[in-house]
Amino acid sequence: MLIVKKFGGSSVANKERIFNVAKRCIEDYRAGHDVVVVLSAMGDTTDDLIALANTINPNAKKRELDMLLTTGEQVSVSLMAMAMQALDVPAVSLNAFQVMMHSTSRYGNARFKRVDTERIMHELDSRKIVIVTGFQGVNKYDDITTLGRGGSDTTAVALAAVLHADKCEIYTDVDGVFTADPRVVKTAKKLDAVTYDEMLELASLGAKVLHNRSVEMAKKYSVKMEVRSSIHSDVPGTIVKEVCKVEKMLIKGVALDNDVTRISVIEVPDQPGIAFRIFSALAASKINVDIILQSVGREGTKDISFTVSTAHKDAAMQIAEAFCQTVGGKEVNFNDNVAKVSIVGAGMLSNPGVAATMFEALGENNINISMISTSEIKISVLIEKEQGKKAVNAIHDAFAL
Ligand code: ASP
Ligand code: MG
Repeated sequence: MLIVKKFGGSSVANKERIFNVAKRCIEDYRAGHDVVVVLSAMGDTTDDLIALANTINPNAKKRELDMLLTTGEQVSVSLMAMAMQALDVPAVSLNAFQVMMHSTSRYGNARFKRVDTERIMHELDSRKIVIVTGFQGVNKYDDITTLGRGGSDTTAVALAAVLHADKCEIYTDVDGVFTADPRVVKTAKKLDAVTYDEMLELASLGAKVLHNRSVEMAKKYSVKMEVRSSIHSDVPGTIVKEVCKVEKMLIKGVALDNDVTRISVIEVPDQPGIAFRIFSALAASKINVDIILQSVGREGTKDISFTVSTAHKDAAMQIAEAFCQTVGGKEVNFNDNVAKVSIVGAGMLSNPGVAATMFEALGENNINISMISTSEIKISVLIEKEQGKKAVNAIHDAFAL
């Protein structure tokens, strides 16, 4: 088998952990497998490097930031190769230039375009463990780029795809993907398997286990991913794949997202093209809009509400104010004291009544819903922030997860 194993920063934070990871990879190697290891930078290295850059120049060019940040991964892969060699196992570390991981030019947020396999295959053929820097690429100017924070997952999946790996194991400090955040819901359970689509929804809902793009890429190239604990080595993790055998679980998880602000534009003219104007202005400023609600028109006016990530609150408010003025609306208001609770599951496709169960659980707990949005495999509601934890627990119970 060819196995790609990715370890995050906390798994390689110090000497003991580096040797720990080395030993786990060597087990697979000794079992006769080809092993490719992808690493993040040690511990908080990436944050520390960003802080360091800020002390020199808070407006540093992204090109130089990428040059700086990619050093973190180069430290961890070389140390890992040394650790394996100290354990008498042949290993070689490679960076994005040596593998040739071609990316788009966008510094700080590059995407892979093409990844060469010759060098890695050659090293595997000579029975070495190959250790590759996560998070980095090379653009057409022969500059080094980064893939955005948490991008090492995407490096691992990209390599698994081009090398046709049998599996891509992502090691983290949790045991897998859970039915809810175990810190919020005491009875949350680890899932054996989720689909790519479910994982994408869960990731964007703040489950934050995997880099979103890694899941998109795994789906596109049918890479089987497994999220596993780097601490509990014998605990099976969560498999991410196309379809889960029996869709016996109606929903897979309940997610809570506190990073939400609701913005409402009140009494705008009820005319065609109005919604287009504000949402295209938001899109032009690269502001992601999540839940949208438009009231039924009355006396020639309607209200338009939408939610954005709180980081975009000020920018979105400015756009909403400008829009309100030009179209002659009444006023704009916002509320950042809200939370979004969502349920996700491919099982809801074929099962009516899922929404009813969710709303009943909220109603019985006196939790008011101010906005609702649905997709094929997700239902989200907006509620008051203080009620977030209560809501997640009530819904988790209602579906007997
Ligand atoms: N070291 C990078 C970061 O901290 C990449 C990664 O961890 O995946 O964002
Ligand atoms: Mg990291």
